[in-house]
This record gives sequence, C-alpha cells and structure tokens, in this order.
Amino acid sequence: MTEYPHLFQPLDLGHVTLPNRVLMGSMHTGLEELGDFDRVAAFYAARAKGGAALIVTGGMAPNREGGVLPGAAGLFTDKDIENHRKTTKAVHEAGGRIAMQILHAGRYAYSPECVAPSPVKSPISPFPPAELDEEGIEKQIADIAEAAAKAREAGYDGVEVMGSEGYFLNQFLVTHTNKRTDRWGGSYENRMRLPIEVVKRVREKVGEDFIVIYRLSMIDLVPNGSTWDEVVTLAKEIEKAGASILNTGIGWHEARIPTIATSVPRRAFTWVTKKLMGEVSIPVITSNRINMPEVAESVLSEGCADMVSMARPFLADPDFVAKAKMGKSNTIAPCIACNQACLDHTFEMKVATCLVNPQAAHETELVYTPTETPKTVAIVGAGPAGLSTALVAAERGHSVTLYDAASDIGGQLNMAKQIPGKEEFFGLVDWYRTMLQEHKVDVRLNTHATPETLAEADEVIIATGVTPRDPQIPVEGNPQVVSYTDILQGRVEAGDRVAIVGAGGIGFDVAEFLAQDKPSPTMDLQEWKEEWGVDDPDVSRGGLAEGGPKPEPSPREITLLQRKSERPGKRLGKTTGWIHRASLMMKGVKMVGGVTYDLVDDQGLHVTGSDGALIIECDTVVLCAGQEPRRDLADELEATGRKVHVIGGADVAAELDAKRAINQGARLAAEL
Ligand code: FAD
Ligand code: NAP
Ligand code: SF4
Repeated sequence: MTEYPHLFQPLDLGHVTLPNRVLMGSMHTGLEELGDFDRVAAFYAARAKGGAALIVTGGMAPNREGGVLPGAAGLFTDKDIENHRKTTKAVHEAGGRIAMQILHAGRYAYSPECVAPSPVKSPISPFPPAELDEEGIEKQIADIAEAAAKAREAGYDGVEVMGSEGYFLNQFLVTHTNKRTDRWGGSYENRMRLPIEVVKRVREKVGEDFIVIYRLSMIDLVPNGSTWDEVVTLAKEIEKAGASILNTGIGWHEARIPTIATSVPRRAFTWVTKKLMGEVSIPVITSNRINMPEVAESVLSEGCADMVSMARPFLADPDFVAKAKMGKSNTIAPCIACNQACLDHTFEMKVATCLVNPQAAHETELVYTPTETPKTVAIVGAGPAGLSTALVAAERGHSVTLYDAASDIGGQLNMAKQIPGKEEFFGLVDWYRTMLQEHKVDVRLNTHATPETLAEADEVIIATGVTPRDPQIPVEGNPQVVSYTDILQGRVEAGDRVAIVGAGGIGFDVAEFLAQDKPSPTMDLQEWKEEWGVDDPDVSRGGLAEGGPKPEPSPREITLLQRKSERPGKRLGKTTGWIHRASLMMKGVKMVGGVTYDLVDDQGLHVTGSDGALIIECDTVVLCAGQEPRRDLADELEATGRKVHVIGGADVAAELDAKRAINQGARLAAEL
C-alpha cells in the first residue's frame, strides 16, 4: 500500500494509460543548443527511469521567428528529427513517455525577427515585434502544426502547445497585446481564435492516438489579463478543438509577482486550477511550487487537479517518483526553488543544472563510479561543501568521517534558513542528515578538528568555510556594531533603527530578516497573497488585487548601504534579484549606494556619499561586508607537508554560494 494513493493512481487517456499522476514539466536546459544529443537523451532517460509518468521537453521553436533566441532549437531538418529520436528511444527504453513542447515566443523572442498580434513591445525584450498579417498568422499556425507532425515522426508520445506565460498564443488573448480589428482581434471570440485554430490543426496533423497538452494561462497576473470567464470559455473550446490534457500556466513572464521563487508558498496556485475542475472533461494538471510527494498528494486528494506538474524537482532528484513509491520520500533531494543553477543559468546562457544535484544535465560528464580502492576520507566542515563531498565519497564506497565544530550539520545553511522566504533550506539540511545516515557516514559533531584528529586518514578534505570580514570602520563611544552572524544566530537583538553595511546576498537577507517580525508570509498563503496583491481572477481581472500589494510594514527603520555606486542588488540572482528588491522596497527599506564609511558613534553611521557627509542615525550597525576564507587548519596541515584538498569557502570566499560549494565537493569526491 502506497503512502500516496492519489499520486499513484493510473490515468487513462484513451489510447494510453499513464502509470501515475506525475508530469515532469517543461524546462529549458540548453543541451539541445549544445548539439550533444547523447547528453540530452541521458538527461531525459534518467527522469523516465525515475518514474515520471510523462515528460515534457524544453520548448522547441516551430520556426525561426518564434524561437526564444536566434538559433533556438527546433525540429527543422531530417537531422534534427534523427537527433530527437535518440531522446525518445532512450526514454521509451527506460519505460517512460515524452511529449515535445512547442514554444512560439511571439513578442518575448529576443530577436529582431519577432512577430506578434500587434506591434506592442514587451517590457522584457528590447525588440519591438512586427505585426502579423493574415498570411503571417496562417504561416504560424501551419508551422506549429508541422512541428507537431515532426514530433510524432521523431517518436514523441505527444506535444505540449505552449499557450501561457505571456507567449505568442497568450498574446492574442488579451487586449493589452492584441489591438487587432480583424477576425483575430476585438471580441474575445476573435482573440481566442488563434489558440483554438492551432489546437485543431495540430490534432488534424497528429491523429487521434497522440497526446496533445495545451498549457493555458489560468491567472495572468498582469494588468488587463484574462477574466475567469474567459479562462473557462477558452478551456472548453480547447477541449472541443481536440486537446487531451490541459496544463496550468501561472503568470506572464513580465508579471511583477513571483510565481516560482523559493519565497512563494508551496502549492501557492493550486486553488486556481481547482476552479477549472468540473468545467472540462479532459484531465487538468496543476503546477508551481509543488516539490514533495506529500504536497502533490494533498493537491490531488483535495481535488485541485487530476495530475501534478513538477519541473525543477526533477533536476534536484531524477528518482523522485521511484523514491516516493518505495516509501523513501525522505531520501528525495529537495528542490529548494532557488533558481540559482537552473533558471538563472538559462538567463546567463549557460547549461542548466541544479544547486542540490550537480549531476543534473551533466549525467554523461559527472559520473559517480564505485571505487576500486576504498580509502579512509576525513572531511572537516559539514557545510554544503563538506556534506556534498561526504555523500559522493561514501556513495562510491569510501569510508568517510565528517567533523564539525558546531552541534549540527549545515554550516551557513543554518543561517540561510532563518531568513523569511528561505524556509526550504530547513528541508535541505534535513535531507543531508538523512543521507549521511543512509550512506553510513561517521559524523562527529561538536568536534573541532586539529591536525592530530586527521593523522590517520588517507585523504583529508578541508571545508572549514569562512569568517565574516571586518571592514574596520572606526568606532567611537559605545554604539552597537555587530556581525550578521550575531543577528542570525540569535546572540543579539537589533534596535529599532538599523544600518546594514554591505548590500550583497547576505545584506539583503539580513534586511529581510529584520523587516519581518511576524511569521513569514511564505508559510501562510493568505498573507502572501495580500503581501503581493494576488486575488481570485473571478473577482479581479488577471488576478491582480485592487489596491495592489499590501505588505506588513517593517517593525524597524532599515538602511542598506554599499560602496559601489551601482544599483544595490544588481548582482543578486538574475531571476530572483528583482523579488528581493521589490520586497524590501515595499517594506520601506532604504537602499543607498556609492558611500564610504567614515565612523560609527552613538549617533549612528557616518558616511560620505555623492552629496557629501551624511549620518545614518541608528541604534545598530550590522556588518555584512563579505567573508574571508577560513584556512587556519589547512595552513597548519600544509605547513607540516600534509597534502590536503581545500574546498568551498575555505578555498575561495569571494562570490561563494552553496551552488559552487556543493559542485566543488561533488566533483572532488567523484575523483577520490
Ligand atoms: P560553511 O557553510 O561555512 O561551513 C563550514 C563548516 O566548517 C561550519 O559548519 C564550521 O562549523 C565548520 N568548521 C570550521 N572549522 C572547523 C574545524 N576546525 N573543525 C570542525 N569544523 C569546522 N548560498 C546560496 O547558494 N544560496 C542562498 O540563498 C544563500 N543564502 C545565504 C544566506 C545567509 C544568511 C548566509 C549566511 C549564507 C547564504 N548562502 C547562500 C551562502 C552559503 O551558505 C555558503 O556559500 C555555503 O554555506 C558555504 O559552504 P562551505 O561548506 O564552504 O562553508
Ligand atoms: P557579497 O555578495 O560579496 O557582498 C559583500 C558586500 O559587502 C558587498 O555589498 C560589498 O559591497 C561589501 N563589502 C565588501 N568588502 C567590504 C569592505 N571592506 N568594507 C565595506 N563593505 C564591503 O557577500 P555576502 O553578502 O557576504 O554573501 C556571501 C555569499 O553568499 C555571496 O557570494 C552570495 O552569492 C551568497 N549568498 C547568496 C544568496 C542568494 O540568495 N543566492 C543569499 C545570501 C548569500 P561594496 O564593496 O560595494 O561595499
Ligand atoms: Fe531547484 Fe534550485 Fe535546483 Fe533549480 S537549482 S532545481 S531551483 S534546487
């Protein structure tokens, strides 16, 4: 008997029955553009082997003008079809099924060739789109239908037509982007003509025994978005046009409301999909921030959908479904929704991977082979670098002892998890704890390692992390000047007026921590919806609440400072930096750049900015001025001629994050 009876119920689609209710949602990995199709096949086959009932590929362009970028991947030539056959074959051999997503970006295409219903430039692309004429529209429909036919030829089990997130088909639906006066614009009947025509023509091309998923925007989260009536009308028409399944899209890419970041509550939007249940007779899939089997099970058991889509969780752990089925959910590597190695990489034009699982999309290159020469491995530091090394080394058959001076594993992750909106880090530390047990790592906590402790080990790994940098600002009188560690480890309570020195990731996080004295909105969906101004699309068009966001005011007056004159927060994550900035600005946190720090005294922090000298009157100054490597142990060992491996913050502290620490640890352990 499974713990998750709804999750493991088969789903009958007529010509085919899916073994469970889990869809692996579409993600762009960038592998196709590399042209290494063995690697693409290995990536998808691992997820099929891990039990996903149906996989959807990253978006494939139906034509040049519809690609997200010039040169975007698609099925254009016979060679492309042959390449994609490698993937479909590998997935089928692994016992899975796979559908190809057809993504026409419309005005979101980062290309001067982009096309759209009307020449309305998007706020997230520099290129104004060309307005399509009747012939141009017919070409787009034909190209999308042809892409579906080629997908079938390449061995796919279906296609997903991307109709949400503000892409091409979505752009026809709302008056903000569709200003046409012909049969493709004006009334809603006209505006929805294109998506319906596309689904009809796709169905005609592929025949009845082929899965056609339509991804429909259920809540646009942009001004003048669709009403709920329009969403339901479209859903019914798309069913009539021949779709087999409706998938949920949440928010346009230009929306100023976070939809998948870690600060978004788990399953934050399943209530929207639930509203569609009963309106159509084909299966409905829900999505966004579903990252654990128990979350998926509750979504299904509450009747919010027939199936759940999870995307990033399959980067973190390809065996998600198999582990849930075996009753070993606590061994599933959790997706913490950080976007750091997946979506941020995509926006930086790098191949996507996963912070938690560096093997993701690197399956053929980072391989953990069992060792033929087991060694004793001593690792000092149970932060992410040391933890990652320990798990991979133990998995490969080495005998691993992990030391940490602290009373718990996790290193700095234990500070990260205190930040409102970063609660997923609790699960990550718990997962490491479970996996250390599973791999029988000998964990020695409350143990300050010295050269003597490590004398007998064959391999010594130093992952001792960092020490906070003291920026050496002169202090006079008796002001409260503390480090971020004092605040986040609970040793010091900040006063009512706070100046934060340093506006990097930690400065922003400390501001978030000090600006919130009530429970985190991430843990309370209603609070979160009010904070960001999300409403029922039945009440407010597009789901944007009248009156906008209503955040809880900060209990403190906070000023966040940096020396650089650039916009504070500019270097935060590509896809999440704007959320941190918006969240703090909504709470009235002041951000000041281009200063030099002169003095702290009982009046506050004295700085010189572009307008001259300034006093930030405050009760507490919190130093978040970066870190230095903690190398004392490594230096001591190396001085005696001992060869050691130094990783994580102990190696290089600048621009260190958990992604680099985990990746470096895993790659070292793969070679030991
Ligand atoms: P650490 O995590 O510092 O671990 C080092 C460990 O070594 C510690 O547990 C320490 O007790 C132990 N140690 C040191 N000396 C000895 C000794 N002699 N004997 C035994 N034990 C010893 N990164 C991200 O990627 N994403 C985020 O969202 C993010 N948010 C953050 C938020 C905050 C508030 C903070 C503080 C950090 C955040 N980071 C984030 C950064 C991330 O936590 C660090 O980059 C990462 O923890 C560094 O890993 P590490 O293993 O090198 O060192
Ligand atoms: P950081 O991002 O390097 O920022 C350090 C800040 O201190 C900068 O604002 C810097 O700006 C300032 N600074 C540096 N030297 C200084 C000095 N001598 N005097 C005064 N100010 C100084 O480092 P961090 O904020 O400590 O974060 C550490 C790492 O954790 C980062 O690499 C980050 O990636 C990671 N992290 C990530 C997240 C995330 O959400 N992904 C969150 C938290 C932390 P100026 O030089 O302009 O003053
Ligand atoms: Fe999830 Fe972060 Fe991994 Fe992306 S990088 S899959 S968000 S844990």
